[in-house]
Amino acid sequence: MLTSSKRAILQTLIDRGPLSRAAIAEILGLSRAALSGLSGELIDAGILREAETSYGSSRLGRPSILLEINASHGYLVGMSIEQFGCPMVLADLHGTVLAQAILPATRVPEEVVDIIEEGLPALLSMAGVERASVLGLSVALSGFVNHSQSVCLQSAILGWADVPLARMVEERVGLPTSLENNANAAAVGEKLFGRGKEQVNFSVVTFGESIGCSHYIDGRLYRGHAGGAGELAHCTIELDGIPCRCGKRGCLDTIASRHAVVSAAHAATLPAESPQEIEELAKTGNPAAIGILHRAGNALGLAISHLIQLNNPERIVIASVDGAVGGLFRTVTKQAIDAYVLPQLGSVTDIRFDDVDEIFWARGAAAIAAHRYLIGAGGAKGSRDAA
Ligand SMILES: [Zn+2]
Repeated sequence: MLTSSKRAILQTLIDRGPLSRAAIAEILGLSRAALSGLSGELIDAGILREAETSYGSSRLGRPSILLEINASHGYLVGMSIEQFGCPMVLADLHGTVLAQAILPATRVPEEVVDIIEEGLPALLSMAGVERASVLGLSVALSGFVNHSQSVCLQSAILGWADVPLARMVEERVGLPTSLENNANAAAVGEKLFGRGKEQVNFSVVTFGESIGCSHYIDGRLYRGHAGGAGELAHCTIELDGIPCRCGKRGCLDTIASRHAVVSAAHAATLPAESPQEIEELAKTGNPAAIGILHRAGNALGLAISHLIQLNNPERIVIASVDGAVGGLFRTVTKQAIDAYVLPQLGSVTDIRFDDVDEIFWARGAAAIAAHRYLIGAGGAKGSRDAA
């Protein structure tokens, strides 16, 4: 079990990247001697290593050796449950993906455990990694997750209620396992492994079968009182709108999710099975396709304008798989944000549309497993912590 001082060192390196011993000591208010002792123990345990030498702003001063998290100290498995299948990755502690696979799609909890048990050996052999070097496993899904107990309280998409998936996987596979909402996994993935490294306040909005949303506030993932922070998908956008899977009406998810736009295309008898195909029809001037994308982009932009005004994030990443939020949808979303947000807040918010690949959430799940190992996060019962 790592002491809180050691976890603070690891947290500092996660937040700021490689640093000298002197810099870490200063940030944490520790004496150089104390820091040297603690970092020495972390190096001996293989969790930290000495990285490049920094010469500071000039090359005249004494060079200092930077400390960083040792990428190959151990490996993490991340998986996400998607409609098209279950992407699974093996990553190191710097987020480099060493092996990946798309496992079969399923919504049955017992089958999820089966595919993890069957898929893991192949993933490890692909990367040439021993099972004993795996530090943890995390599964990301769309739904409400009790973070401390790693239980899926409710998932409208999967049709789950109170599923203790982490415990089920842990019992069968024998690895410390956690469960996380997929938008939270995406944010932690951006923070640990991605482009959110320097960001202290940012939000991730994910466009998929459903819409996900998560926030990093003051450098920490913000889960809220009961783990429900970021439920943008089920904010009411249209009073007395159509029924939503959550039981309410007129939620953002009923207008702007992949599920919603494809359903609207079906209702309009358009020959389209994906947002990309609706975009193609819109390009040919099809009025129904243009109308669906306008309505969806307008709703998403309105919701994001509220998010900007509530949290004032420095950046919002709107992530979608393989350009699903492209063309007209993207243009209308941008215009709607500009139209609805207070100009002084909109002008200081960096809005990024990001086409991500199908392992994006699985990689985020691996980041969750890394986060739990390095700095703890009230892991699933029986979780193994860093030594
Ligand atoms: Zn809803």
